[in-house]
Amino acid sequence: MASIPTITPPPPRGAPNPTPRAPLKIAIVGGGIGGMSAAVGLRGAGHDVTVYEQSTNFTEQGAAIHLAPNANGILRRWGITAESFGGNAMSRLVEHAADGRVRRDVDLSRANERWQHPWHLVHRGTLHVVLQAQFKQSGGVAKTKARVEGVESEAGRVLLERGEGIGDVVVGADGIYSTTRSFVKDAKLFSSGKAAFRFLIPRRLAEEDPVTAPLVEKRDALHMWYGEDRRIVMYPCNNNDVLNFVCIHPDTESFATERDEWGKQATLYQLLEVYKDFDPVVKALMTKVAHQLHRLQVWQLLDMKTLPTWTTGRLVLLGDAAHPFTPHQGQGAGQAIEDAAALTVVLPLGTTPDEVPERLALYQHIRYERAHVIQEYSRLAGRDWVNGEPTVDMMAYTNYNFGHDELDH
Ligand code: FAD
Repeated sequence: MASIPTITPPPPRGAPNPTPRAPLKIAIVGGGIGGMSAAVGLRGAGHDVTVYEQSTNFTEQGAAIHLAPNANGILRRWGITAESFGGNAMSRLVEHAADGRVRRDVDLSRANERWQHPWHLVHRGTLHVVLQAQFKQSGGVAKTKARVEGVESEAGRVLLERGEGIGDVVVGADGIYSTTRSFVKDAKLFSSGKAAFRFLIPRRLAEEDPVTAPLVEKRDALHMWYGEDRRIVMYPCNNNDVLNFVCIHPDTESFATERDEWGKQATLYQLLEVYKDFDPVVKALMTKVAHQLHRLQVWQLLDMKTLPTWTTGRLVLLGDAAHPFTPHQGQGAGQAIEDAAALTVVLPLGTTPDEVPERLALYQHIRYERAHVIQEYSRLAGRDWVNGEPTVDMMAYTNYNFGHDELDH
């Protein structure tokens, strides 16, 4: 990576500040979790922020996600608390063999005391609504049906189908299939070798069935069932009302081999076929998705070679556009939120348009190593088991991911 960028020093103490504290005009391309977090942070710092989002109704797809202490702490600083929108505190990790036997049951209450902020499980869509509301309340502008087709990185222009938007800064937060990334560096996506089914089940359905009720007795618990090359992850969100499933398996069985954005419709038959050798109780639980089959989706988990740089001129990338994440450490959204916070710190009110390129280089310097280290941990945690044992403990990198210097093991 490039050496530390030089920054124009501030005026000496007591000297008149030659630059008025004028806001920058900031155009954010993409209004997902990363783009909306940057919008909240940068608008909160006092800048003029416009979000350009291609979709019509601005809804965030997907089911639930982890808000680990590192991301939760940032949101709390912005006045957003997961408890207020149905976040569940993560208090227990239960690991099962594929046949259902409990291999490990970890009470996380002591570990939770060590981290500076709570570890929550939240619904992605709800978090997105909360971020949108905060941004709009603070006077930010969000344009929907506004797909950005190109960027002029030196001029800070985003090119829309009709017209253009002008900014002192353009933030490319347009996700894994990023358009803005191609104006920084070309990069090819490739299969990580895995794909995932994702769906939600009302907890009530599990509790009403005597076969599945014991499985959901423990609240605030994350369960994992491990096969050699596939696994099922289940955890609650929405005040424990909803159970979120992510079922990860070899991509060869994904039924989703073409570009499919955030997933395509799958069938219950496909789901049960891929997990046919698993515990009948967890399979009984999974069949309860039948009440909302349209929400059963499968998608390829893609990866990308590390970009040598995330920025050029006035254009900067964040979130999955800069560093797409596999889901094995639950840190993709968290790292996008950390990017947003770092960008907010390096662009305080009073930053002049001329200073923008050096500030963006500083943002990259702050974030590049940490985001890519955690991206690599996520790849490692997704490896298959060997001889019935995990090659990497799912909790091995937790301390680093959560913002502490040392590793757990
Ligand atoms: P996105 O969420 O992809 O948002 C990009 C936005 O840009 C979209 O709204 C899109 O419509 C818009 N857009 C795209 N192109 C354009 C354009 N040209 N013009 C205008 N708008 C455009 N992360 C976690 O932290 N915890 C988890 O537990 C977790 N679980 C996951 C489970 C699975 C199975 C997967 C696949 C991912 C998971 N992630 C998790 C990862 C996380 O969802 C992503 O890393 C995170 O959402 C990245 O956010 P983003 O804003 O960068 O991109």
